[in-house]
Amino acid sequence: MKRTALLLALLMLCAGAASSETAFDKHRVYYEIFVGGFYDSDGDGMGDLNGVRQKLDILGPEGLGVGGVWLMPVMPSPSYHKYDVTDYRAIDPAYGTMADFDALLAACGERDIALLVDLVLNHSSSEHPWFLSAARSLSIPPCGQEPCADAALCPAHNPYCGYYHFSKTPASGWHSLPNGWYYQGAFGPHMPDLNLSNEALRAEILSVADFWLSKGVAGFRLDAVIEYENRNTAQNVAFLSWFRTELAARHPSAYLVGEAWTDAATIARYYPSGVDSFFNFPFSQNDGAIVAAVRGGKGRALAEKAAAWQATIRAANPDAIDAPFLSNHDNARSAGFLARKLPLMKMCAAVYLLLPGNPFIYYGEEIGMTGSGRDENKRQPMVWSAGDSTGIPNPPADADQTQSLAAGVAEQIGDPDSLWRFYQQTLRVRARHPEIAYGAVTALPIGESGLCALRFDGGGTVVVLHNVGKTEIRLPLAEGPLAGLTVMDCLRADAALPTFDKTTLTMPPMTTAVLR
Ligand code: CA
Repeated sequence: MKRTALLLALLMLCAGAASSETAFDKHRVYYEIFVGGFYDSDGDGMGDLNGVRQKLDILGPEGLGVGGVWLMPVMPSPSYHKYDVTDYRAIDPAYGTMADFDALLAACGERDIALLVDLVLNHSSSEHPWFLSAARSLSIPPCGQEPCADAALCPAHNPYCGYYHFSKTPASGWHSLPNGWYYQGAFGPHMPDLNLSNEALRAEILSVADFWLSKGVAGFRLDAVIEYENRNTAQNVAFLSWFRTELAARHPSAYLVGEAWTDAATIARYYPSGVDSFFNFPFSQNDGAIVAAVRGGKGRALAEKAAAWQATIRAANPDAIDAPFLSNHDNARSAGFLARKLPLMKMCAAVYLLLPGNPFIYYGEEIGMTGSGRDENKRQPMVWSAGDSTGIPNPPADADQTQSLAAGVAEQIGDPDSLWRFYQQTLRVRARHPEIAYGAVTALPIGESGLCALRFDGGGTVVVLHNVGKTEIRLPLAEGPLAGLTVMDCLRADAALPTFDKTTLTMPPMTTAVLR
């Protein structure tokens, strides 16, 4: 008896110790927000952190149904998109204060919404004090003394000189300083590349990560990982492995999702780093696998691809979590390339939101916002209402397109057939069947080629069926791979819902059924 009690107490202790950080569930649907374009809480024309906080109920479990938010960069930056950072431990005043950020974190915590911060490690701003200090030091001769009289200025001793790549020789992708030196900047002169093999910088990066994780952020979206070491995949993976391992020591539940904007074979090579997720670029956008399947009525091909992809990434990292999406802040918005056809938009949403892993919704996608061409068009203000401009920020200065939505968020929430309501409905279905997020997925060879049939084996067995073809598909329920399963949820992207009796499930075109 005593031994049992002791064991129980030990078990409870373990559970208690785990509950704070390791119990965080990494499987979530995320929502990407460009803060400056989301909601303006104080009427100055700029979206802000308080605005995000005020809209959490519309996003969270009681609203749209996302479990996490990825904020595009919130750190001080001279640019509107803020991907060139001047201080990695602060909030850009245009978005608010650190107190506002802390309030947003607390509000997320109350709603079980995980908050991801965008961490831009490939480069800093050319206005970052590190870079300014290094550039100034390179203008003067090294002191030649030990110890150095002025480490802040002496180029041989100023640690920031090692934070970047400097050379006296010009090269492609390098930019000149007035003092005759050159520096690497793959994204342009205002974004000098950081030297990620520098030990002092690495310590600084860990300290920055610790700063945000200790506040309570769930993890980071890692910008431009393929550029870290000049597109050298082995070196990039080595850096990511180091980062993952170092973080795990202090923050074992921190979630990392990397932007490796490249082909499938290369993305697969990043998964052994231990980074949880990499965005599934080959499935995304106008020319990706999801849209190709829905537009071409090739459901079975997509099911086979989805199953093969999970097998590939789990072979590289057993804990790999796919991150499917339709488009993001760098891509043409999906409503545009789907010609604003509501059934197409709904069907693509049902397909990708019911794929394994962590789907990422780009803000405004769920109401059919458009935007293409220059980047500013893809980051337009969220249309909260078509008739009331309250809280709608100003568009980025160089945008040359405008939104022409007949219905914004408010109107679409009130319309049972709206795209917003369809996203909500689909996320409710996903939440009812958690195996879709984490289960082992296989493609079922049933129905016609228009049927995307995926079986998820986790705590239970769940089958997700999409008919993306042009004709009705009838499936036996009393025998074959669906025998013993019950139809739990049905969705329609067009006119008709699936119907079923004890023996047959009938799926009209553009419908979804979930069985378990
Ligand atoms: Ca504002």
